[in-house]
Amino acid sequence: MKRTETRPIFVRGIQIGGQNQCVLQSMTNVPAKNVEASADQINELAEHGCGIARMAILDEADAEAIPEIIKRTSIPLVADIHFNYLLALKSIEGGIDAIRINPGNIGEREHTEAVVRACKERDIPIRIGINSGSLEKQFLDQYGGTPCPEAMIASADRHVKILEELDFHDICLSFKSSDVELTIAAYEAAAKHYPYPLHLGVTEAGGFAESAVKSSAALGTLLHEGIGDTIRVSVSGPPKDELIIARQLLRCFNLAHDVPNLIACPTCGRIQYDMLPIVKEMEEYLNTIHSDITVAVMGCPVNGMQEASRADVGIAGGYETGMLFRKGKLIRTVPQAELSQALKEEIDQIIKERES
Ligand code: SF4
Repeated sequence: MKRTETRPIFVRGIQIGGQNQCVLQSMTNVPAKNVEASADQINELAEHGCGIARMAILDEADAEAIPEIIKRTSIPLVADIHFNYLLALKSIEGGIDAIRINPGNIGEREHTEAVVRACKERDIPIRIGINSGSLEKQFLDQYGGTPCPEAMIASADRHVKILEELDFHDICLSFKSSDVELTIAAYEAAAKHYPYPLHLGVTEAGGFAESAVKSSAALGTLLHEGIGDTIRVSVSGPPKDELIIARQLLRCFNLAHDVPNLIACPTCGRIQYDMLPIVKEMEEYLNTIHSDITVAVMGCPVNGMQEASRADVGIAGGYETGMLFRKGKLIRTVPQAELSQALKEEIDQIIKERES
């Protein structure tokens, strides 16, 4: 199963599945009922490349905040609901674009039917989220007591069957674990088992560096295999950090075409200017740029000349200066203090020229 073969769903016009693309998602970490903080965070996520934002809907006040949050933001929103079907109905009524709920956990059949009916009326998809840490005891017992791909698929089957019996197929599935090997195995099994698009993620992946490594290992493997239609990298930190990792991950597999590429050397004893603060500033600047521009920041002319000159724009350091290149052409030598600004101006200029 490749991502081009999955059954597409649409979240406010954004296609997930059935194409060789992968949609970036993230999640807010403030109460939805705090409209201002939620909207600010969603707008910040969008600025960092997020395509779809998810919010936890814990109570009625959260659900009631949805229309106002929609008014103040521009990207599609998903309501994440556990157990309470009334919150799902209220979220749908408030204009939410997708629901994350596990139908096997919302009690009586009529409750599921009501949610499915409301989703059908408004063309809203449902994501079923399986988490290896909260598998039902019956499936754990059936498969030896510890989480495994088979138990995760059995759990998903229970929920999927309910939706399919109600002739509902706008489904997306996730099989998250904090274990890299289990994540890969579960998604590989799911890709063979279901026609539905897959939402990739390593759950509870840790802080920035831990998450970057685990997510790249697990999700990178899957993306390379053609598995995964939408992705959420989980980071214990500001939600925008998730996008920084996820965007670069998608760029590595040619699944994002608006993500900058920063080439920078590790520096060594040959360096004669203060390069690392410039790299840091460029990282931050490029995180909000939506263009496939390549920027090189190199320590010295030894390897730096070639790398810098191959990039759209780059610098190769000299003695307290940097040689500024654009598309292989040396433009000028810039003093240390002006290098960051000079790079930013060149980046902006290139983007402006591309847009005109
Ligand atoms: S580009 Fe120059 S400073 Fe950077 S690692 Fe290579 S030799 Fe060292």
